[in-house]
Amino acid sequence: MAILKLPYRGKVKLSSPYGNRILNGTPGWHAGVDLVGQDEKIIRAPCDAVVGISTMIPKEGDTTLTWQWGNYVRLDCAGGMKIYLCHMAERLVRAGESVKTGDALGVEGNTGYSFGSHCHFEVRIANSAIDPTPYLGIRNEIGIYEGDAIPGGSAGTSSGASAAGGTAAEAGKPGDGNTPHDWAVDAVNWGVSVGILKGSSADKLKLRLNDPVTREEMMVFLHRFAEAIDEYLEK
Ligand SMILES: [Zn+2]
Repeated sequence: MAILKLPYRGKVKLSSPYGNRILNGTPGWHAGVDLVGQDEKIIRAPCDAVVGISTMIPKEGDTTLTWQWGNYVRLDCAGGMKIYLCHMAERLVRAGESVKTGDALGVEGNTGYSFGSHCHFEVRIANSAIDPTPYLGIRNEIGIYEGDAIPGGSAGTSSGASAAGGTAAEAGKPGDGNTPHDWAVDAVNWGVSVGILKGSSADKLKLRLNDPVTREEMMVFLHRFAEAIDEYLEK
């Protein structure tokens, strides 16, 4: 159930997953996934959007580290989702333009803080970077992917499970009170996407309810939910 297309035609390699990683010997947080076009180097819009930013910030005098993205394009999508496509050799769109799914945005490159031609693909909701792989319908694992299809697996659950059980969450197991069961991961990602939860299912230390709720409020939610199901079943 992907809602975003992969930003290339044909096969795409995921070369570095979202989450904790070691880059040049230094542990760090990877806020997106690194993608490499296997059949084509044109980077394309993963959804209909408006180009919010198309720029390259010079390194000199940049205190925000945005220069690290090199030539990058930010797409502003429906529902407040913003997609960053970085390190391009060349940008083919300007801020303010509307693009349709599949439209060319630029050419894959190695600009900014980059060590080989690739596209750093980052998705933010309410300015929090989230694991983009459930939206792309792929696993958060190194591998070759094509279109919406996940080789050797079904869409939602396998990608969701890897989001929870992948690099950032090796410790713990479902049911220990801190690690979600596989069946809960899609719901958690949904909670993040609509803003009820802050953070990411791959980084549980940062995953928090936007507002604290009491047990009583939780019971109201469950009660209403049960009533809605009853109503639905009676129809
Ligand atoms: Zn990256």
